Amino acid sequence: MDLKIAFDNSYARLPGRFFMRQAPVPVRAPELLLLNLGLAEELGLAGDALQSPDGVEMLAGNAVPEGAEPLAQAYAGHQFGGFSPVLGDGRAILLGEVIDDTGTRRDLQLKGSGQTAFSRPGSDGRAPLGAVIREFIVSEAMHALGIPTTRALAAVATGEHVRREAMLPGGVLTRVASSHIRVGTFQFFAARGDTEALQALLDYAIARHFPQADGPMGFLDAVIEGQARLVAQWLGVGFIHGVMNTDNTAISGETIDFGPCAFMDSFHPATVYSSIDRGGRYAYMRQPEILAWNLAQLASALLPLMGEPQDAALEAAQAAVERYPELVRAQWAEVFGRKIGLQRREDGDAALAAGLLERMAEEGADFTNTFRALVTGRARDEFTDPLAFDHWEEGWRARLAREPEPEALAARLKQANPAVIPRNHRVEQAIAAAMQGDLSVATRLIGALARPFDDLPEELADLARPPLEEERVQRTFCGT
Ligand code: AMP
Ligand code: MG
Repeated sequence: MDLKIAFDNSYARLPGRFFMRQAPVPVRAPELLLLNLGLAEELGLAGDALQSPDGVEMLAGNAVPEGAEPLAQAYAGHQFGGFSPVLGDGRAILLGEVIDDTGTRRDLQLKGSGQTAFSRPGSDGRAPLGAVIREFIVSEAMHALGIPTTRALAAVATGEHVRREAMLPGGVLTRVASSHIRVGTFQFFAARGDTEALQALLDYAIARHFPQADGPMGFLDAVIEGQARLVAQWLGVGFIHGVMNTDNTAISGETIDFGPCAFMDSFHPATVYSSIDRGGRYAYMRQPEILAWNLAQLASALLPLMGEPQDAALEAAQAAVERYPELVRAQWAEVFGRKIGLQRREDGDAALAAGLLERMAEEGADFTNTFRALVTGRARDEFTDPLAFDHWEEGWRARLAREPEPEALAARLKQANPAVIPRNHRVEQAIAAAMQGDLSVATRLIGALARPFDDLPEELADLARPPLEEERVQRTFCGT
């Protein structure tokens, strides 16, 4: 095949029990639907080669390019609180790693690439095309919003059907990540008492992600910090991940596994979209505490590496986990301080921001549009009772009076509050059109989402509009 990729596969050089070597399972009639040329360039991949028949064969998993060492990674995980000692890539294949134009190592993974040794019993190893398009749109939107995330290089239709709620067209996503190491990867070896592998994984993860970290404690601190920053950023754009299991928490601090995720329209802290999250376990406002739990699982998986005596190790690990709530509070104050235009931090700032959110929740104000309307002074129009906003605004203006550079307030607000996010109903419309062979709805949406902090031109203004009653999407599906 013509496509030349300079693979350098460090994960494949780890001990054999880290993965199963395995090629993707070919599909019947691959068709390239979406290709991310900007990302291809970052990775040093030629766009026209990816679009060539050979390129599409690779993106579909029908051909394995030279230098790739396809494998399915092993991991465990707590899902909705219950522990599974073996999960692993049941429908994904790591093709290999490339070094990008900034010198960073990136994984190239096919998702929806067929059964593996880790496939859930009775599951097909495939992905519905709708879920593939959803992940493409939403992960690229996250990136443009400045939030660490796995990326989407390509979406391919397979020409095959998968059985879910109904028979659905299948797809393969090419996912790019700074690694696919999860909290669950550490749990996998910890659960087996395989301290040697655990140490090898830790050494590998430190070298790849946190070269400055000193041993397991330094590593734990670094992961906790990255995750605290990440979850605060999610909250800042109204994002609900939907499946915050430990196998979906990446060590790198990137958002990973976009299943039934969604962005909120009207604000309520208890919002849940995922069809499988009946108890509201992973509701918007619960995400920081769920993460605390996931990080505590990482800490306990690392314990065997923390030396003797074990009670001292336990104490240190506990102390690290106990620092997390304060880290999240600080990150939250940072994100929401910026959202209300503050450059400096004063004691009452978090309460001020929280006060706005409380009023928004009472009034069902649109999350994105209310914050964005702070730029133009029209935020009161987002409230059924504008007086609710006016009261808050008095305190806000008083606080703003103590900020430097008042002339730059509008610019600051614009930089912190996107005009456009991937609203559920727009994503669903893009998917529905793509199913009918019309990709223009998706590409138009993707184009607008690539510059979320710019004012939307008139012809794209509809993308900022909250859903009409009949357009509202209440439930999202993970497509597994
Ligand atoms: P997820 O809920 O996507 O994080 O997946 C949880 C586990 O189920 C992982 O081990 C997946 O690889 C596996 N899994 C999800 N969907 C499928 C599928 N269609 N076929 C086989 N395994 C799957
Ligand atoms: Mg997962």
